[in-house]
Formats: sequence, structure tokens, C-alpha cells
Amino acid sequence: MKRALILMSGGQDSTTCLYQSISEYGRAWLRAIGFNYGQRHVEELEAAKEICADLRIPYKVIDLPILKQLTSNSITDPGIPIDKKMPASGPPNTNVDGRNLIFLSCAAIYAKNHGITDLIMGVSETDYSGYPDCRKNFMDSMQTSLRLSMDYDFNVITPLMRMSKAQIWQLAKDLGCLDIIEKQTITCYNGESGSGCGECPACKLRNEGYNQFINNK
Ligand code: ZN
Repeated sequence: MKRALILMSGGQDSTTCLYQSISEYGRAWLRAIGFNYGQRHVEELEAAKEICADLRIPYKVIDLPILKQLTSNSITDPGIPIDKKMPASGPPNTNVDGRNLIFLSCAAIYAKNHGITDLIMGVSETDYSGYPDCRKNFMDSMQTSLRLSMDYDFNVITPLMRMSKAQIWQLAKDLGCLDIIEKQTITCYNGESGSGCGECPACKLRNEGYNQFINNK
């Protein structure tokens, strides 16, 4: 049987991927991993832990204080206010340089140690926030690099890559987990569950997608 490791932040996207993976792999063949990297919305890891516990899927949290020591941004430095709008050029200050590079590297090491080849990550370049490490070309290059680095047949799988937020809400409905995504996940940069603070860019993206989804029904 193929086995998979979900990179599970406790937000809408990764939780939807988790539920989708259950139907594809079976619960017994899944593990999840999350990262404590000094994010201001560390509550997301508690949400992830609870969701995985309810599903009886093993969830491992890795401490990654190194990111905070290397780079400054509004996610890991509470003293920097979150950009409300996209800047004229470059990503917003919620971008954490190297985050997905390091997350995927750590996840791959853990996966190989557990005989797992498939790494599943809920990134999307459709409604993405301008983060370069959420794009398909980066994910493809990581698959190549991980295979070369550990001589192991990793697959980096990104089921939501071409989906909008509204489509991801629809997918949650189709998977029968809409209620859990709505109430239990944390996407908000201020760590508020469900529809969140409503003000931060993550909430705006999530809530705009939700409204589109509701209006399309
Ligand atoms: Zn928020």
C-alpha cells in the first residue's frame, strides 16, 4: 500500500487535503506533521492536533525555531504589523522566506524514516498570497531535489494547486467535512478559529472564497 504524510497546519487547505487523503489512501496509511516555527497563530497547531486525534491519525509536531532566527517577517515577529494590502512589488510581509523549502525537507526526512513516499501539501497558486514557495514550479523542483538528496522515490503532491478558495470550500462539501473545516480549522493570522478575526489577509481570502462558494450554490 502507498502511504502518505500530510503537512498539516490546522488551516482550511491542509485539513481539506487530509480528508481527501483519507478517501484515497485509507486512514491507516496516513500520518500528519506540523511545524512550530514561532508563528503568531500557533493555535493552529492545537486545531491540527485535535482534528488528527478525532480521526486517529498520528500527528507529529516539529520545533523549528531556526526560521525565526534567520529571517524577519510579520508572521514570526509580533512587533511587525501584518501588511493589509499587497505591496506594489514582491510578496507581502507575511511571506516567510524558505518556509516551504524547510518544511518539505523536514517532512521528507521524517517520511523516509517511516517508509512513506508521498508528501501532501495544501498549497495553491490560484488564490495564493504572492508567496513564491506555493507555486507549482517550486513544488516540482523540490520533488526532484528531495529524490536526489535522499535517493528515495518521493512524490510531492499538491491536490489544491489549481483550485480557488471557493473551489476548495466546494471540495470540503463534497468530502463531507464542511462543518469541520468551517468550525475547527484556524486560517487566521491572529489565531482565531473558524471565520477568524475577519480583518487579516488570511481571513479575507478564506471568507471571500466562502462567500463565492455560498453564492455559487
Ligand atoms: Zn484573521
